[in-house]
Amino acid sequence: MEDNCIFCKIANGEIPSATVYEDETFRAILDLSPAAKGHTLILPKAHAANLFELPDETAAKALMLAKKLGAVLKEGLHADGLNVVQNNGEAAGQTVLHFHMHLIPRYSGDTVNVGWKPGHLTDEDRDEVLKLFQK
Ligand code: 5GP
Ligand code: ZN
Repeated sequence: MEDNCIFCKIANGEIPSATVYEDETFRAILDLSPAAKGHTLILPKAHAANLFELPDETAAKALMLAKKLGAVLKEGLHADGLNVVQNNGEAAGQTVLHFHMHLIPRYSGDTVNVGWKPGHLTDEDRDEVLKLFQK
């Protein structure tokens, strides 16, 4: 646990939350300021600031849990779709610096905004990025 981390305190039960799921590794809670009904957060109990600090095993389990809980939300709330959102760093919209995944039920025609304005892949950008992955 990290001092002064609100999600450490919530995940480990020091601060009460509307918990939809708990096991030895995770707690999943309802977001206090939901984008839509059922907006859920998956929190690991062990502190990791973001995806890059998260152990591989926990990262793999987090996606499996997102699938399991997301299916319950989608079916139970009769949603048409579901966003799995995960922000890393303030520049990417992360406001709580303890890894978490958002599950956001979506409805055709709703006004939830998790999108971006599509850009254009330039040849220069393509080549620069492809080079990062060449050995
Ligand atoms: P981020 O922007 O870091 O990806 O998302 C943080 C999320 O945590 C936000 O959706 C915000 O509403 C939620 N949140 C922040 N503080 C609390 C809290 O104390 N309890 C709960 N349940 N959600 C919180
Ligand atoms: Zn924490």
